[in-house]
Amino acid sequence: MNTTKVFLKPGKEVSVKRRHPWVFSGAIAQIEGFPKPGDVVSVSSSKNEVLGYGHWAEGSITVRLFSFSVSIDGKNWWRDSIRKAFEMRRQLGFVTNSKTNVYRLLNAEGDGMPGLVIDIYGSTAVMQAHSVGMHKELEDIAAYVVELFGGGITSVFDKSAEKLGKNQAAAIQNKYINGEPGNNVVIENENQFQIDWEEGQKTGFFIDQRENRALVGRYSAGRKVLNAFCYTGGFSVYALRNGAERVDSVDSSQKAIELTDRNIQLNGFENLNHQSIKADAVEYMRNLDAKFDLMILDPPAFAKHLSARHNAVQAYRRINEAAIKQIEPGGLIFTFSCSQAVDVGLFRGAITAAAIDAGRNVRILHTLGQPADHPVSIFHPEGEYLKGLVLQVE
Ligand code: SAH
Repeated sequence: MNTTKVFLKPGKEVSVKRRHPWVFSGAIAQIEGFPKPGDVVSVSSSKNEVLGYGHWAEGSITVRLFSFSVSIDGKNWWRDSIRKAFEMRRQLGFVTNSKTNVYRLLNAEGDGMPGLVIDIYGSTAVMQAHSVGMHKELEDIAAYVVELFGGGITSVFDKSAEKLGKNQAAAIQNKYINGEPGNNVVIENENQFQIDWEEGQKTGFFIDQRENRALVGRYSAGRKVLNAFCYTGGFSVYALRNGAERVDSVDSSQKAIELTDRNIQLNGFENLNHQSIKADAVEYMRNLDAKFDLMILDPPAFAKHLSARHNAVQAYRRINEAAIKQIEPGGLIFTFSCSQAVDVGLFRGAITAAAIDAGRNVRILHTLGQPADHPVSIFHPEGEYLKGLVLQVE
């Protein structure tokens, strides 16, 4: 394959040799050729050994490596990674599962494909490219995914527009690459959810919370549950199915409230003690008109970039302090962060500060994360973005 060659500065090959897939602009000594965003480039050490191949991009992460081999199959370099990702999901029991038909098929760096996620919603695959290079391959990748599933996937939606830079986003539109809009009601642990992959956040659903929702279900019987930042009401549905006495779902977005109500109805829970409230979650928690003994705090990713990290930590502290102050003695708080830039240690620090300010004794009962269909490469710890704690407050 005739590719542009990128040569690293002496010493900068170490992280690539350890299979970390990002090359930062400061690590590059020399470029042979004139790469454009999305081009495939080879990456070599200062001693001219080929270390791998990746996509060129603008910005501080200049190359995202998708191969650590000395050569690649020019046209179908992605085939192996996608097939392995599919085999792993099959091994994990996702591919034909009558109780859950929503899962992540491909998790970017965690599956050796930086810049691409593919989520499965029943017979629809939703693809989201975060890099121009991956976006260029989507049509071929879609055809291969359809082939791998042997009839199980009848439609593929490209939802990349908002994830690519502003310039590219203007040039591309979300669209069906294969097939037409299919059935958009999925099941997760036997609960039903209507998914809006065309307009919703991410690819339409927070698939990564599946196991944490099930854990909420386990502790919900007889409890009064406050689901703050509810979005599609996932946690609320599990709580109601498992016998919660009352569930309040709070989100600041009207769209989220509508999605929650629809999902509550879809599961036949509209006559249970549930209400959806459009409000700022922290304000709502500070002015509660009832006592709650199970709270879920799953705010949006406050820190999308390192520069926002300090403010994000302060926001986690504020939200958690409000919950720790208000919860009934013995109550449980499921608290999450999905900010990549806030690691486990920082998150725990924010919760500790919240507990100190709230002046109550707090224990950690569970440490939570993302499920197996969102794997993390051990060489790319940045991929471990979802962190959660289950707290018991005395
Ligand atoms: N827990 C959800 C995902 C939460 S996504 C699930 O399992 O699917 C984060 C949500 O927080 C979004 O729906 C967003 O509208 C909402 N949000 C953002 N800021 C908020 C605020 N200040 N108060 C309440 N909700 C907020």
